[in-house]
Amino acid sequence: MPALIDPFGRRIDYLRLSVTDRCNLRCGYCRPAGPAPGGESGPPALSDDEVLAAVRAAVSAGISKVRITGGEPLLRPDLPRLVRRLASLPGLADLSLTTNGLLLAGMARALRAAGLGRVNVSLDTLVPERLREIAGAGHPGTVMTGIRAALAEGLSPVKVNVVVMAGINDSEVPDFVRLTREMPVHVRFIELMPVGEAGASAMGRRVPLDDIRRRCGPLEPLAPGGEPSGFGPAEYVRSPGCLGTIGFISALSRGFCGRCNRLRLTSQGRLVSCLAGEEGLDLAPLLGAGDKGGLAEAFRRAAEMKPLRHRMAEGACRPREAVMCSMGG
Ligand code: SAM
Repeated sequence: MPALIDPFGRRIDYLRLSVTDRCNLRCGYCRPAGPAPGGESGPPALSDDEVLAAVRAAVSAGISKVRITGGEPLLRPDLPRLVRRLASLPGLADLSLTTNGLLLAGMARALRAAGLGRVNVSLDTLVPERLREIAGAGHPGTVMTGIRAALAEGLSPVKVNVVVMAGINDSEVPDFVRLTREMPVHVRFIELMPVGEAGASAMGRRVPLDDIRRRCGPLEPLAPGGEPSGFGPAEYVRSPGCLGTIGFISALSRGFCGRCNRLRLTSQGRLVSCLAGEEGLDLAPLLGAGDKGGLAEAFRRAAEMKPLRHRMAEGACRPREAVMCSMGG
C-alpha cells in the first residue's frame, strides 16, 4: 500500500467524503442562509460510480479510511447501496459515517448490513425547543432513538458530536457527560470554528476548550488503549465510573493541524486540502474522462498542497464560498 505523505511529514490516509449538500437541518453555525450550494433536490452532483472511482483512486494513492458525511448523508438516495460498494473496495480498511441522526433509526440496520463500521451522531442539545432554535427542526428524542438503534446494530463506537455555544447549550455540558454514564457512547465537545460565513458569524458564541472542560466535572485519563477507535483530532478522557468517554475537539484553543491526516471531497467533486484553506482541485473533469491515473495523481497533489496549519484565527476562512455543509465538517 503506497503512503501519502504531505510536505510536513504527516501521513494522509483519511478521506472525508461528502455525498450530498442537502440537509434536513439548518444549524446557524454551519449553513449560510439561502439555498444549498448544490441545490435542494435532484440527483447528487457525483453519481455512485463517480464516487467509487474517486475513492478507488484515493485508495490507490494511500487513503485507507473514509468517513461519509454531507450535508446530511442519510438524505442521499439509497445510501446503503453506495456503502455496500465502498465497503467492498480492496484496501479500504475503515468506513464510517457522520449524521445528524434524524433518519438513523430506520437506516442503522441496512447500513450495518451494507458494511458500515461505525457512526458519529451530531446532537447539540437534549432539549427539544433548543434543537429547534439551533437547527430549525428535529427532535432530540428522534436522534436518541437513532443512537440506540446504532448501538443495537453493533455500529461501534458510537460518538456524539456536540458543538458548544455560549448562552445556548453550554449549560448542558454536564447532561452530555451524564449520557456517557448511561450509555456506552463517546461524547465529543467541539469548539465552534469560523469556517464559512455561517461559522464566522457564530464565533461570538465560542466557548474555549478550558471552559468546556471545567463544566464537565471530575475527569480522569483513560487507561492506555482505552480510546474509542477513530482517526480524528479528539483528545479523550472519562468521567469516573462511566461506560463511555469524553472527547474534546478544538481547532482554536489547541489546534489540531499537527496530527491532521485528511483530505476532503465535496459532493460536487472538489478535493479540498484543508478545512479552512483555499487549496483544492476539481475532480469532475477527471471523473468525466474516466482518467484513473489522473485521479490518483490529484490525490497526491492535494496532499502536497496541504498547508502546515489552518489560518482560522486570522479569519482566513471567512470569505470562502466553501462551507461546512459542503465539506462535511
Ligand atoms: N449532517 C451531518 C451531521 O450533522 O453530522 C454531517 C455534516 S456536519 C457539517 C458535520 C459536523 O460538522 C457536525 O458535527 C457539525 O456540528 C460540525 N460543524 C459544522 N459547522 C461547524 C462549525 N462552524 N464549528 C464546529 N463544528 C461545525
